[in-house]
Amino acid sequence: MGCKCAKPTDEFHGWACEITGGECMFLLPDSKQCAKVYGEGPDVEPPKECEGDQIKYCANCGKEIERSYFKCLDNFLQVKYFEADDQSDNVFCSKDCFCESLFLEEIDIEK
Ligand SMILES: [Zn+2]
Repeated sequence: MGCKCAKPTDEFHGWACEITGGECMFLLPDSKQCAKVYGEGPDVEPPKECEGDQIKYCANCGKEIERSYFKCLDNFLQVKYFEADDQSDNVFCSKDCFCESLFLEEIDIEK
């Protein structure tokens, strides 16, 4: 229950809606109900895009991936390191970004 977009007001029945600018459609603001019934409000789920034409971004620098990207195929890392179900955090624009992301550093050997 409750809704982030409902603002207490002395108009209407006591609740105004930030999105429509009018009254909240519910006597008691309920964003889940609102998403279900009206398709509005903070609880509406963004439409799912299909995998193919999804825009990918480098998980390290955030750059938009254009033609190709680097993906770690190590199963252990895929399970233990990358957290996103759709592997969207396993996308890198360059090997450098991948290395940076995995904290790969060059360590000098002291002599
Ligand atoms: Zn990058």
